Amino acid sequence: MNAPPLSPSSPVLLDAIVVGAGFSGLYQLLLLRDKLGLSVKVLDAAQGVGGTWYWNRYPGARCDSESHSYAYYFSKELLNEWEWSERYPQQPEILRYLNHVADRFDLRSDIVLGTKVQSAHYGDTDKRWHITTDTGQTYSAKYFITAVGCLSSANIPTISGLDSFSGQWFHTGEWPHEGVDFKGKNVGVVGTGSTGIQAIPVIAEQAKHLTVFQRTANYSIPARNMPLDDAFKRYAKENADHFREVMTTNTNAHPFRLSERLAFDFSEAERNQIYEEAWLKGGLQFRASFKDLLQNSDSNQTAADFIRNKIRQTVTDHVKAEQLSDIDHPFAAKRPPIDSGYFETFNLTHVDLVNLRETPIESITPRGIKTSTTEFNLDVIVFATGFDAMTGSLLKMDIQGRHGVSLQKTWQAGPLNYLGLQVPGFPNMFTITGPGSPSVLCNMPPAIEHHVEWITNCIEHLQKNKMDSIEASQHASENWVATVNAAANETLLPQAKHSWYLGANVPGKPRVFMPYPGGFLRYRTTCEEIVNKGYAGFIVGSE
Ligand SMILES: Cc1cc2nc3c(=O)[nH]c(=O)nc-3n(C[C@H](O)[C@H](O)[C@H](O)COP(=O)(O)OP(=O)(O)OC[C@H]3O[C@@H](n4cnc5c(N)ncnc54)[C@H](O)[C@@H]3O)c2cc1C
Repeated sequence: MNAPPLSPSSPVLLDAIVVGAGFSGLYQLLLLRDKLGLSVKVLDAAQGVGGTWYWNRYPGARCDSESHSYAYYFSKELLNEWEWSERYPQQPEILRYLNHVADRFDLRSDIVLGTKVQSAHYGDTDKRWHITTDTGQTYSAKYFITAVGCLSSANIPTISGLDSFSGQWFHTGEWPHEGVDFKGKNVGVVGTGSTGIQAIPVIAEQAKHLTVFQRTANYSIPARNMPLDDAFKRYAKENADHFREVMTTNTNAHPFRLSERLAFDFSEAERNQIYEEAWLKGGLQFRASFKDLLQNSDSNQTAADFIRNKIRQTVTDHVKAEQLSDIDHPFAAKRPPIDSGYFETFNLTHVDLVNLRETPIESITPRGIKTSTTEFNLDVIVFATGFDAMTGSLLKMDIQGRHGVSLQKTWQAGPLNYLGLQVPGFPNMFTITGPGSPSVLCNMPPAIEHHVEWITNCIEHLQKNKMDSIEASQHASENWVATVNAAANETLLPQAKHSWYLGANVPGKPRVFMPYPGGFLRYRTTCEEIVNKGYAGFIVGSE
Protein backbone atom coordinates (compact mmCIF):
# COMPACT_ATOMS: atom_id res chain seq x y z
CA MET A 1 0.00 0.00 0.00
CA ASN A 2 1.29 3.42 -0.90
CA ALA A 3 1.64 5.94 1.89
CA PRO A 4 -0.98 8.70 1.66
CA PRO A 5 0.42 11.77 -0.09
CA LEU A 6 1.92 14.33 2.20
CA SER A 7 1.35 17.98 1.58
CA PRO A 8 3.17 19.23 -1.53
CA SER A 9 5.00 21.69 0.69
CA SER A 10 6.79 18.90 2.54
CA PRO A 11 8.99 17.00 0.11
CA VAL A 12 10.09 13.50 1.02
CA LEU A 13 13.85 13.71 1.58
CA LEU A 14 15.81 10.77 0.19
CA ASP A 15 19.23 9.72 -0.97
CA ALA A 16 17.93 8.54 -4.32
CA ILE A 17 14.83 8.64 -6.50
CA VAL A 18 14.42 6.04 -9.21
CA VAL A 19 11.77 6.58 -11.88
CA GLY A 20 10.32 3.35 -13.30
CA ALA A 21 9.52 -0.02 -11.72
CA GLY A 22 10.41 -2.38 -14.55
CA PHE A 23 13.45 -4.64 -14.81
CA SER A 24 15.74 -1.62 -14.32
CA GLY A 25 14.05 0.15 -11.44
CA LEU A 26 13.46 -3.00 -9.36
CA TYR A 27 17.11 -4.03 -9.45
CA GLN A 28 18.33 -0.47 -8.91
CA LEU A 29 16.18 -0.20 -5.79
CA LEU A 30 17.50 -3.50 -4.45
CA LEU A 31 21.15 -2.51 -4.85
CA LEU A 32 20.93 1.07 -3.62
CA ARG A 33 18.79 0.13 -0.64
CA ASP A 34 20.19 -3.24 0.43
CA LYS A 35 23.80 -3.03 -0.77
CA LEU A 36 24.55 0.64 -0.13
CA GLY A 37 22.00 1.26 2.60
CA LEU A 38 20.57 4.37 0.96
CA SER A 39 17.06 5.72 1.42
CA VAL A 40 15.38 5.21 -1.96
CA LYS A 41 11.92 5.40 -3.51
CA VAL A 42 10.89 4.13 -6.90
CA LEU A 43 8.10 6.07 -8.58
CA ASP A 44 6.04 4.65 -11.43
CA ALA A 45 3.02 5.97 -13.30
CA ALA A 46 1.66 2.42 -13.57
CA GLN A 47 -0.60 0.83 -10.96
CA GLY A 48 1.69 -2.19 -10.80
CA VAL A 49 5.34 -3.12 -11.18
CA GLY A 50 6.68 -4.65 -14.41
CA GLY A 51 7.20 -1.70 -16.78
CA THR A 52 6.97 -2.95 -20.36
CA TRP A 53 5.16 -6.07 -19.19
CA TYR A 54 2.63 -4.09 -17.19
CA TRP A 55 1.64 -1.95 -20.19
CA ASN A 56 1.99 -4.25 -23.22
CA ARG A 57 -0.92 -6.65 -22.84
CA TYR A 58 -1.90 -6.89 -26.50
CA PRO A 59 -2.83 -10.29 -27.95
CA GLY A 60 0.30 -12.28 -28.74
CA ALA A 61 2.58 -10.15 -26.54
CA ARG A 62 5.63 -12.13 -25.57
CA CYS A 63 9.35 -11.61 -25.60
CA ASP A 64 11.66 -12.52 -28.46
CA SER A 65 14.55 -13.29 -26.15
CA GLU A 66 14.56 -16.88 -25.00
CA SER A 67 13.15 -17.29 -21.53
CA HIS A 68 16.30 -18.64 -19.90
CA SER A 69 18.09 -15.44 -20.97
CA TYR A 70 15.27 -12.98 -20.32
CA ALA A 71 15.77 -12.91 -16.59
CA TYR A 72 17.96 -11.48 -13.88
CA TYR A 73 21.17 -13.38 -13.34
CA PHE A 74 22.34 -11.59 -10.19
CA SER A 75 20.76 -14.11 -7.83
CA LYS A 76 21.37 -17.85 -8.12
CA GLU A 77 18.45 -18.49 -5.75
CA LEU A 78 16.10 -16.51 -7.98
CA LEU A 79 17.35 -18.34 -11.07
CA ASN A 80 16.86 -21.69 -9.39
CA GLU A 81 13.41 -21.10 -7.98
CA TRP A 82 11.79 -19.59 -11.10
CA GLU A 83 10.48 -21.87 -13.87
CA TRP A 84 9.68 -20.54 -17.33
CA SER A 85 7.06 -22.54 -19.16
CA GLU A 86 7.82 -21.69 -22.79
CA ARG A 87 10.76 -20.96 -25.05
CA TYR A 88 9.48 -17.35 -25.30
CA PRO A 89 7.32 -16.42 -22.30
CA GLN A 90 4.09 -14.51 -22.82
CA GLN A 91 3.44 -11.15 -21.21
CA PRO A 92 1.45 -12.50 -18.22
CA GLU A 93 4.26 -14.89 -17.31
CA ILE A 94 6.94 -12.16 -17.44
CA LEU A 95 4.70 -9.88 -15.39
CA ARG A 96 4.31 -12.68 -12.80
CA TYR A 97 8.09 -13.05 -12.72
CA LEU A 98 8.67 -9.35 -12.04
CA ASN A 99 5.98 -9.35 -9.34
CA HIS A 100 7.70 -12.36 -7.81
CA VAL A 101 10.99 -10.39 -7.81
CA ALA A 102 9.29 -7.45 -6.09
CA ASP A 103 7.91 -9.76 -3.38
CA ARG A 104 10.94 -11.94 -2.98
CA PHE A 105 13.26 -9.03 -2.34
CA ASP A 106 10.67 -7.12 -0.33
CA LEU A 107 10.75 -4.18 -2.70
CA ARG A 108 7.13 -3.04 -2.60
CA SER A 109 7.41 -0.89 0.50
CA ASP A 110 9.74 1.43 -1.39
CA ILE A 111 7.77 1.60 -4.62
CA VAL A 112 5.19 4.32 -5.07
CA LEU A 113 2.78 3.39 -7.85
CA GLY A 114 0.25 5.49 -9.72
CA THR A 115 2.70 8.38 -9.57
CA LYS A 116 3.92 10.08 -12.69
CA VAL A 117 7.03 12.23 -12.41
CA GLN A 118 6.31 15.57 -14.00
CA SER A 119 9.54 17.39 -13.35
CA ALA A 120 13.00 16.92 -11.89
CA HIS A 121 15.03 20.07 -11.35
CA TYR A 122 18.57 20.24 -10.06
CA GLY A 123 19.07 22.84 -7.35
CA ASP A 124 22.22 24.84 -7.98
CA THR A 125 22.28 25.92 -4.35
CA ASP A 126 21.43 22.77 -2.42
CA LYS A 127 22.86 20.38 -5.06
CA ARG A 128 19.79 18.15 -4.83
CA TRP A 129 17.19 16.98 -7.30
CA HIS A 130 13.66 18.31 -6.72
CA ILE A 131 10.97 16.10 -8.11
CA THR A 132 7.29 16.88 -8.65
CA THR A 133 4.63 14.31 -9.42
CA ASP A 134 1.04 14.25 -10.62
CA THR A 135 -0.19 13.22 -7.16
CA GLY A 136 1.09 16.48 -5.70
CA GLN A 137 3.72 14.72 -3.62
CA THR A 138 7.20 16.15 -4.07
CA TYR A 139 10.58 14.57 -3.40
CA SER A 140 14.11 15.79 -2.92
CA ALA A 141 17.05 13.47 -3.48
CA LYS A 142 20.77 13.61 -4.01
CA TYR A 143 20.71 11.08 -6.86
CA PHE A 144 18.14 11.04 -9.64
CA ILE A 145 18.06 7.79 -11.61
CA THR A 146 15.85 7.27 -14.61
CA ALA A 147 14.73 3.70 -15.24
CA VAL A 148 12.02 4.84 -17.62
CA GLY A 149 12.64 2.28 -20.35
CA CYS A 150 13.65 2.56 -23.99
CA LEU A 151 10.25 1.49 -25.29
CA SER A 152 7.75 3.04 -22.92
CA SER A 153 6.42 6.15 -24.62
CA ALA A 154 3.66 5.05 -27.02
CA ASN A 155 3.90 6.54 -30.51
CA ILE A 156 0.33 7.24 -31.57
CA PRO A 157 0.39 8.56 -35.11
CA THR A 158 -1.14 11.97 -35.68
CA ILE A 159 -3.68 11.10 -38.34
CA SER A 160 -6.41 13.64 -38.86
CA GLY A 161 -9.88 12.53 -37.86
CA LEU A 162 -8.89 10.04 -35.15
CA ASP A 163 -11.18 11.85 -32.71
CA SER A 164 -14.11 11.38 -35.06
CA PHE A 165 -13.77 7.57 -35.27
CA SER A 166 -16.96 6.00 -33.96
CA GLY A 167 -15.40 2.61 -33.19
CA GLN A 168 -12.76 1.72 -30.63
CA TRP A 169 -9.03 2.29 -31.07
CA PHE A 170 -6.04 1.13 -29.03
CA HIS A 171 -2.27 1.43 -28.98
CA THR A 172 -0.59 -1.90 -28.24
CA GLY A 173 1.67 -0.29 -25.62
CA GLU A 174 -1.29 0.97 -23.57
CA TRP A 175 -3.55 -2.05 -23.84
CA PRO A 176 -6.66 -2.19 -21.62
CA HIS A 177 -6.38 -4.63 -18.73
CA GLU A 178 -9.80 -6.12 -19.42
CA GLY A 179 -8.69 -7.05 -22.96
CA VAL A 180 -10.44 -6.35 -26.26
CA ASP A 181 -13.08 -8.60 -27.77
CA PHE A 182 -12.49 -8.86 -31.52
CA LYS A 183 -15.18 -11.50 -32.14
CA GLY A 184 -17.44 -10.59 -35.05
CA LYS A 185 -15.54 -7.32 -35.62
CA ASN A 186 -13.89 -5.69 -38.59
CA VAL A 187 -10.43 -4.89 -37.31
CA GLY A 188 -7.62 -2.79 -38.77
CA VAL A 189 -4.04 -3.13 -37.56
CA VAL A 190 -1.69 -0.29 -38.46
CA GLY A 191 1.98 -1.27 -38.28
CA THR A 192 4.01 -4.36 -39.07
CA GLY A 193 7.00 -4.06 -36.75
CA SER A 194 7.78 -6.59 -34.02
CA THR A 195 4.53 -5.89 -32.19
CA GLY A 196 2.26 -6.00 -35.24
CA ILE A 197 3.92 -9.23 -36.30
CA GLN A 198 3.15 -10.77 -32.89
CA ALA A 199 -0.40 -9.44 -32.67
CA ILE A 200 -1.70 -9.97 -36.23
CA PRO A 201 -1.93 -13.80 -36.18
CA VAL A 202 -3.73 -13.78 -32.82
CA ILE A 203 -6.15 -11.01 -33.75
CA ALA A 204 -6.85 -12.82 -37.04
CA GLU A 205 -7.99 -15.89 -35.08
CA GLN A 206 -10.74 -13.83 -33.46
CA ALA A 207 -11.76 -11.10 -35.88
CA LYS A 208 -14.49 -11.40 -38.49
CA HIS A 209 -12.24 -9.50 -40.89
CA LEU A 210 -8.73 -8.13 -40.48
CA THR A 211 -7.11 -5.45 -42.62
CA VAL A 212 -3.39 -4.99 -42.10
CA PHE A 213 -2.04 -1.56 -43.04
CA GLN A 214 1.64 -1.95 -43.93
CA ARG A 215 4.01 0.95 -44.54
CA THR A 216 7.27 -0.98 -44.24
CA ALA A 217 7.47 -4.65 -45.10
CA ASN A 218 9.59 -6.58 -42.63
CA TYR A 219 11.73 -9.65 -42.40
CA SER A 220 10.63 -12.14 -39.82
CA ILE A 221 12.01 -15.48 -38.70
CA PRO A 222 9.78 -18.23 -37.26
CA ALA A 223 10.05 -18.21 -33.48
CA ARG A 224 9.29 -21.92 -33.17
CA ASN A 225 7.92 -21.36 -29.73
CA MET A 226 7.28 -24.48 -27.64
CA PRO A 227 6.72 -25.54 -24.07
CA LEU A 228 9.98 -26.17 -22.24
CA ASP A 229 10.52 -29.73 -21.12
CA ASP A 230 12.02 -30.65 -17.77
CA ALA A 231 15.33 -31.61 -19.35
CA PHE A 232 15.81 -28.13 -20.81
CA LYS A 233 14.71 -26.41 -17.60
CA ARG A 234 17.30 -28.44 -15.68
CA TYR A 235 19.94 -27.80 -18.34
CA ALA A 236 19.35 -24.02 -18.22
CA LYS A 237 19.70 -23.99 -14.44
CA GLU A 238 22.73 -26.24 -14.29
CA ASN A 239 24.44 -24.13 -16.95
CA ALA A 240 23.48 -20.71 -15.64
CA ASP A 241 27.13 -19.69 -15.17
CA HIS A 242 27.89 -20.67 -18.73
CA PHE A 243 24.91 -18.69 -20.09
CA ARG A 244 25.85 -15.68 -18.04
CA GLU A 245 29.40 -15.86 -19.35
CA VAL A 246 28.17 -16.09 -22.96
CA MET A 247 25.66 -13.26 -22.56
CA THR A 248 28.09 -10.86 -20.95
CA THR A 249 30.94 -11.48 -23.39
CA ASN A 250 29.26 -11.29 -26.76
CA THR A 251 27.78 -8.69 -29.07
CA ASN A 252 24.06 -8.82 -28.30
CA ALA A 253 23.88 -10.25 -24.76
CA HIS A 254 21.89 -13.21 -26.06
CA PRO A 255 22.81 -16.72 -24.89
CA PHE A 256 24.48 -17.59 -28.19
CA ARG A 257 27.57 -16.37 -29.97
CA LEU A 258 27.79 -14.90 -33.44
CA SER A 259 29.28 -17.40 -35.87
CA GLU A 260 32.89 -16.82 -36.94
CA ARG A 261 31.91 -17.79 -40.52
CA LEU A 262 31.78 -15.26 -43.37
CA ALA A 263 28.87 -15.64 -45.77
CA PHE A 264 31.06 -15.83 -48.88
CA ASP A 265 33.38 -18.47 -47.48
CA PHE A 266 30.65 -20.90 -48.55
CA SER A 267 29.04 -21.89 -51.83
CA GLU A 268 25.47 -20.73 -52.38
CA ALA A 269 24.16 -24.24 -51.68
CA GLU A 270 26.16 -24.55 -48.46
CA ARG A 271 25.10 -21.07 -47.33
CA ASN A 272 21.45 -21.80 -47.97
CA GLN A 273 21.78 -25.04 -46.05
CA ILE A 274 23.11 -23.05 -43.06
CA TYR A 275 20.20 -20.61 -43.37
CA GLU A 276 17.74 -23.47 -43.70
CA GLU A 277 18.97 -25.06 -40.47
CA ALA A 278 18.76 -21.70 -38.67
CA TRP A 279 15.26 -21.17 -40.09
CA LEU A 280 14.13 -24.53 -38.77
CA LYS A 281 15.67 -23.87 -35.38
CA GLY A 282 13.94 -20.49 -35.33
CA GLY A 283 14.44 -17.34 -33.31
CA LEU A 284 16.92 -14.50 -33.22
CA GLN A 285 19.85 -16.83 -33.65
CA PHE A 286 19.19 -16.78 -37.40
CA ARG A 287 21.11 -13.51 -37.61
CA ALA A 288 24.13 -15.16 -36.00
CA SER A 289 24.46 -17.52 -39.00
CA PHE A 290 27.37 -15.50 -40.36
CA LYS A 291 29.65 -12.98 -38.75
CA ASP A 292 29.43 -10.34 -41.47
CA LEU A 293 25.68 -10.01 -42.05
CA LEU A 294 25.57 -6.53 -40.57
CA GLN A 295 28.87 -5.37 -42.06
CA ASN A 296 28.84 -6.52 -45.65
CA SER A 297 25.94 -5.60 -47.97
CA ASP A 298 26.48 -8.56 -50.27
CA SER A 299 26.52 -10.98 -47.34
CA ASN A 300 23.41 -9.36 -45.93
CA GLN A 301 21.74 -9.72 -49.32
CA THR A 302 22.14 -13.50 -49.15
CA ALA A 303 20.16 -13.62 -45.88
CA ALA A 304 17.62 -11.11 -47.20
CA ASP A 305 17.08 -13.15 -50.37
CA PHE A 306 16.68 -16.35 -48.38
CA ILE A 307 13.94 -14.79 -46.24
CA ARG A 308 12.21 -13.15 -49.20
CA ASN A 309 12.06 -16.54 -50.90
CA LYS A 310 10.54 -18.04 -47.77
CA ILE A 311 7.89 -15.32 -47.75
CA ARG A 312 7.05 -16.00 -51.41
CA GLN A 313 6.88 -19.74 -50.76
CA THR A 314 4.59 -19.24 -47.76
CA VAL A 315 2.12 -16.63 -49.00
CA THR A 316 -0.04 -18.10 -51.72
CA ASP A 317 -1.55 -14.86 -53.03
CA HIS A 318 1.00 -13.47 -55.48
CA VAL A 319 0.20 -9.80 -54.86
CA LYS A 320 0.34 -10.14 -51.08
CA ALA A 321 3.57 -12.14 -51.31
CA GLU A 322 5.20 -9.40 -53.38
CA GLN A 323 4.07 -6.68 -51.00
CA LEU A 324 5.26 -8.58 -47.93
CA SER A 325 8.64 -9.35 -49.45
CA ASP A 326 9.26 -5.89 -50.93
CA ILE A 327 11.53 -4.94 -48.03
CA ASP A 328 13.47 -1.67 -48.25
CA HIS A 329 16.24 -2.23 -45.71
CA PRO A 330 19.01 -4.75 -45.03
CA PHE A 331 18.14 -7.75 -42.90
CA ALA A 332 18.46 -6.94 -39.14
CA ALA A 333 19.04 -3.23 -39.79
CA LYS A 334 15.70 -2.73 -38.03
CA ARG A 335 14.80 -4.69 -34.91
CA PRO A 336 14.47 -8.20 -36.41
CA PRO A 337 11.10 -9.70 -35.48
CA ILE A 338 10.37 -13.35 -34.90
CA ASP A 339 6.88 -14.73 -35.38
CA SER A 340 4.39 -17.49 -34.88
CA GLY A 341 2.52 -17.85 -38.16
CA TYR A 342 2.73 -14.23 -39.34
CA PHE A 343 3.14 -14.79 -43.07
CA GLU A 344 0.75 -17.78 -43.00
CA THR A 345 -1.96 -15.45 -41.64
CA PHE A 346 -2.13 -13.71 -45.02
CA ASN A 347 -3.39 -16.98 -46.56
CA LEU A 348 -6.61 -16.64 -44.57
CA THR A 349 -9.44 -15.37 -46.74
CA HIS A 350 -10.60 -12.86 -44.13
CA VAL A 351 -7.18 -11.15 -43.89
CA ASP A 352 -6.29 -8.34 -46.30
CA LEU A 353 -3.11 -6.36 -46.75
CA VAL A 354 -3.01 -2.68 -47.69
CA ASN A 355 0.28 -1.31 -48.95
CA LEU A 356 0.54 2.21 -47.54
CA ARG A 357 3.53 2.97 -49.76
CA GLU A 358 1.17 2.82 -52.76
CA THR A 359 -1.98 4.12 -51.08
CA PRO A 360 -1.13 6.17 -47.97
CA ILE A 361 -3.60 6.81 -45.16
CA GLU A 362 -5.25 10.19 -45.72
CA SER A 363 -7.46 10.36 -42.67
CA ILE A 364 -9.52 8.49 -40.14
CA THR A 365 -13.23 8.90 -40.66
CA PRO A 366 -16.14 8.08 -38.35
CA ARG A 367 -16.36 4.72 -40.16
CA GLY A 368 -12.74 3.70 -40.43
CA ILE A 369 -9.49 4.39 -42.27
CA LYS A 370 -9.42 6.26 -45.56
CA THR A 371 -6.43 5.74 -47.83
CA SER A 372 -5.79 7.61 -51.07
CA THR A 373 -8.08 5.13 -52.88
CA THR A 374 -10.43 3.45 -50.42
CA GLU A 375 -12.35 3.92 -47.19
CA PHE A 376 -12.09 0.79 -45.01
CA ASN A 377 -15.00 0.28 -42.63
CA LEU A 378 -13.69 -0.80 -39.23
CA ASP A 379 -15.05 -1.49 -35.76
CA VAL A 380 -11.65 -1.49 -34.08
CA ILE A 381 -8.31 0.10 -35.01
CA VAL A 382 -5.13 -1.25 -33.39
CA PHE A 383 -2.08 0.98 -33.64
CA ALA A 384 0.99 -1.26 -33.51
CA THR A 385 3.06 1.82 -34.27
CA GLY A 386 5.73 1.39 -31.65
CA PHE A 387 7.31 3.95 -29.41
CA ASP A 388 9.03 7.29 -29.25
CA ALA A 389 12.01 5.11 -28.47
CA MET A 390 14.93 5.70 -26.16
CA THR A 391 14.39 9.41 -25.51
CA GLY A 392 10.57 9.71 -25.44
CA SER A 393 9.95 9.03 -21.75
CA LEU A 394 12.98 11.07 -20.69
CA LEU A 395 11.97 14.12 -22.68
CA LYS A 396 8.35 13.92 -21.56
CA MET A 397 9.54 14.75 -18.05
CA ASP A 398 10.60 18.34 -17.50
CA ILE A 399 14.21 17.61 -16.49
CA GLN A 400 16.42 20.61 -15.79
CA GLY A 401 20.09 20.45 -14.84
CA ARG A 402 22.50 23.16 -13.74
CA HIS A 403 21.29 26.76 -14.20
CA GLY A 404 17.84 25.56 -15.21
CA VAL A 405 19.01 24.21 -18.58
CA SER A 406 16.50 21.66 -19.81
CA LEU A 407 17.20 18.20 -21.19
CA GLN A 408 15.10 19.19 -24.21
CA LYS A 409 17.55 22.00 -24.96
CA THR A 410 20.66 19.91 -24.30
CA TRP A 411 19.30 17.22 -26.62
CA GLN A 412 17.75 19.38 -29.30
CA ALA A 413 20.19 18.03 -31.90
CA GLY A 414 20.07 14.49 -30.50
CA PRO A 415 20.86 12.75 -27.21
CA LEU A 416 24.23 14.11 -26.07
CA ASN A 417 25.59 12.02 -23.21
CA TYR A 418 28.47 9.90 -22.01
CA LEU A 419 28.21 6.09 -22.23
CA GLY A 420 24.42 6.41 -22.18
CA LEU A 421 24.79 6.90 -18.44
CA GLN A 422 25.16 10.61 -17.76
CA VAL A 423 24.36 13.92 -19.44
CA PRO A 424 26.73 16.90 -19.15
CA GLY A 425 25.19 19.60 -16.99
CA PHE A 426 23.05 17.11 -15.04
CA PRO A 427 25.09 16.16 -11.94
CA ASN A 428 24.19 12.97 -10.09
CA MET A 429 21.58 12.05 -12.69
CA PHE A 430 21.96 8.59 -14.23
CA THR A 431 20.02 7.08 -17.14
CA ILE A 432 19.67 3.29 -17.09
CA THR A 433 19.96 2.02 -20.68
CA GLY A 434 20.03 5.60 -21.92
CA PRO A 435 20.64 6.41 -25.59
CA GLY A 436 24.30 5.86 -26.38
CA SER A 437 24.36 2.49 -24.59
CA PRO A 438 23.81 -0.90 -26.30
CA SER A 439 20.33 -1.31 -24.71
CA VAL A 440 17.83 -2.23 -27.43
CA LEU A 441 20.48 -3.88 -29.60
CA CYS A 442 20.88 -6.38 -26.77
CA ASN A 443 18.91 -8.91 -24.90
CA MET A 444 18.08 -6.28 -22.34
CA PRO A 445 18.23 -7.87 -18.88
CA PRO A 446 22.04 -8.32 -19.01
CA ALA A 447 22.40 -4.75 -20.33
CA ILE A 448 20.18 -3.52 -17.49
CA GLU A 449 22.08 -5.50 -14.86
CA HIS A 450 25.34 -4.04 -16.14
CA HIS A 451 24.06 -0.44 -15.97
CA VAL A 452 22.48 -0.86 -12.56
CA GLU A 453 25.66 -2.38 -11.15
CA TRP A 454 27.83 0.31 -12.76
CA ILE A 455 25.68 3.08 -11.27
CA THR A 456 25.68 1.40 -7.87
CA ASN A 457 29.47 1.00 -7.90
CA CYS A 458 29.83 4.61 -8.97
CA ILE A 459 27.67 5.88 -6.11
CA GLU A 460 29.50 3.61 -3.69
CA HIS A 461 32.79 5.08 -4.93
CA LEU A 462 31.50 8.60 -4.31
CA GLN A 463 30.27 7.72 -0.82
CA LYS A 464 33.47 5.91 0.19
CA ASN A 465 35.69 8.72 -1.03
CA LYS A 466 33.53 11.44 0.48
CA MET A 467 32.79 12.82 -2.94
CA ASP A 468 29.57 14.56 -3.57
CA SER A 469 28.92 14.58 -7.25
CA ILE A 470 29.63 13.05 -10.61
CA GLU A 471 28.86 14.54 -13.96
CA ALA A 472 29.80 13.69 -17.55
CA SER A 473 32.11 16.25 -19.12
CA GLN A 474 30.96 18.03 -22.26
CA HIS A 475 34.08 16.94 -24.12
CA ALA A 476 33.76 13.25 -23.21
CA SER A 477 30.08 13.32 -24.12
CA GLU A 478 30.71 14.84 -27.53
CA ASN A 479 33.41 12.24 -28.14
CA TRP A 480 31.06 9.47 -27.06
CA VAL A 481 28.34 10.55 -29.49
CA ALA A 482 31.00 10.53 -32.22
CA THR A 483 32.07 7.04 -31.10
CA VAL A 484 28.47 5.77 -31.29
CA ASN A 485 28.08 7.21 -34.78
CA ALA A 486 31.39 5.80 -35.94
CA ALA A 487 30.40 2.36 -34.61
CA ALA A 488 27.04 2.66 -36.42
CA ASN A 489 28.79 3.58 -39.65
CA GLU A 490 30.86 0.38 -39.44
CA THR A 491 27.55 -1.46 -39.87
CA LEU A 492 24.55 -1.47 -42.20
CA LEU A 493 22.27 -0.28 -39.38
CA PRO A 494 21.98 3.36 -40.53
CA GLN A 495 20.70 2.13 -43.91
CA ALA A 496 17.26 1.43 -42.46
CA LYS A 497 15.96 4.93 -43.06
CA HIS A 498 12.61 4.37 -41.32
CA SER A 499 14.08 2.82 -38.23
CA TRP A 500 13.26 3.85 -34.69
CA TYR A 501 16.93 3.31 -33.87
CA LEU A 502 17.33 6.58 -35.80
CA GLY A 503 14.23 8.25 -34.42
CA ALA A 504 12.73 8.14 -37.92
CA ASN A 505 9.29 6.91 -36.77
CA VAL A 506 8.52 10.12 -34.90
CA PRO A 507 7.95 13.28 -36.95
CA GLY A 508 10.38 16.08 -36.05
CA LYS A 509 12.71 13.87 -33.99
CA PRO A 510 16.42 14.45 -34.78
CA ARG A 511 17.84 11.67 -36.98
CA VAL A 512 20.67 10.35 -34.85
CA PHE A 513 21.63 6.72 -34.41
CA MET A 514 20.81 6.23 -30.72
CA PRO A 515 21.86 2.82 -29.37
CA TYR A 516 25.59 1.99 -29.19
CA PRO A 517 26.19 -0.63 -31.92
CA GLY A 518 29.77 -1.56 -31.07
CA GLY A 519 28.70 -4.65 -29.14
CA PHE A 520 27.95 -5.37 -25.51
CA LEU A 521 31.42 -6.75 -24.68
CA ARG A 522 33.21 -3.75 -26.23
CA TYR A 523 30.88 -1.42 -24.37
CA ARG A 524 31.35 -3.15 -21.02
CA THR A 525 35.11 -3.16 -21.48
CA THR A 526 35.05 0.57 -22.27
CA CYS A 527 32.98 1.30 -19.15
CA GLU A 528 35.40 -0.73 -17.04
CA GLU A 529 38.47 0.99 -18.48
CA ILE A 530 36.96 4.38 -17.78
CA VAL A 531 36.39 3.42 -14.14
CA ASN A 532 39.93 2.05 -13.87
CA LYS A 533 41.24 5.37 -15.12
CA GLY A 534 39.53 7.10 -12.20
CA TYR A 535 36.23 7.79 -14.00
CA ALA A 536 37.96 9.40 -16.97
CA GLY A 537 35.64 11.81 -18.77
CA PHE A 538 33.53 12.38 -15.68
CA ILE A 539 33.90 15.37 -13.40
CA VAL A 540 33.96 13.86 -9.93
CA GLY A 541 34.22 16.04 -6.91
CA SER A 542 33.02 17.45 -3.66
CA GLU A 543 31.13 20.65 -3.99
C1 LIG B 1 6.40 -5.50 -26.76
C2 LIG B 1 7.80 -5.50 -26.30
C3 LIG B 1 8.56 -6.65 -26.39
C4 LIG B 1 9.87 -6.65 -25.94
N1 LIG B 1 10.60 -7.78 -26.08
C5 LIG B 1 11.87 -7.79 -25.65
C6 LIG B 1 12.66 -8.95 -25.77
O1 LIG B 1 12.26 -9.96 -26.31
N2 LIG B 1 13.93 -8.91 -25.31
C7 LIG B 1 14.46 -7.80 -24.74
O2 LIG B 1 15.60 -7.83 -24.31
N3 LIG B 1 13.72 -6.69 -24.60
C8 LIG B 1 12.46 -6.66 -25.05
N4 LIG B 1 11.73 -5.51 -24.94
C9 LIG B 1 12.34 -4.32 -24.33
C10 LIG B 1 11.89 -4.16 -22.87
O3 LIG B 1 11.42 -2.87 -22.76
C11 LIG B 1 13.06 -4.42 -21.92
O4 LIG B 1 13.48 -5.76 -22.07
C12 LIG B 1 12.77 -4.20 -20.44
O5 LIG B 1 11.51 -4.66 -20.06
C13 LIG B 1 12.96 -2.74 -20.05
O6 LIG B 1 12.87 -2.59 -18.68
P1 LIG B 1 13.04 -1.16 -18.01
O7 LIG B 1 12.77 -1.33 -16.58
O8 LIG B 1 14.33 -0.55 -18.40
O9 LIG B 1 11.92 -0.24 -18.68
P2 LIG B 1 10.32 -0.46 -18.75
O10 LIG B 1 9.99 -1.87 -18.56
O11 LIG B 1 9.92 0.20 -20.01
O12 LIG B 1 9.81 0.35 -17.49
C14 LIG B 1 9.82 1.74 -17.46
C15 LIG B 1 8.79 2.21 -16.47
O13 LIG B 1 8.99 3.61 -16.30
C16 LIG B 1 7.73 4.20 -16.06
N5 LIG B 1 7.82 5.62 -16.37
C17 LIG B 1 8.24 6.22 -17.51
N6 LIG B 1 8.16 7.57 -17.40
C18 LIG B 1 7.67 7.82 -16.17
C19 LIG B 1 7.37 9.00 -15.45
N7 LIG B 1 7.53 10.22 -15.99
N8 LIG B 1 6.88 8.90 -14.19
C20 LIG B 1 6.70 7.68 -13.61
N9 LIG B 1 6.95 6.51 -14.25
C21 LIG B 1 7.43 6.60 -15.51
C22 LIG B 1 6.79 3.46 -16.99
O14 LIG B 1 5.47 3.53 -16.51
C23 LIG B 1 7.35 2.05 -16.93
O15 LIG B 1 6.64 1.26 -16.03
C24 LIG B 1 10.42 -5.47 -25.39
C25 LIG B 1 9.68 -4.31 -25.33
C26 LIG B 1 8.37 -4.32 -25.79
C27 LIG B 1 7.58 -3.05 -25.71
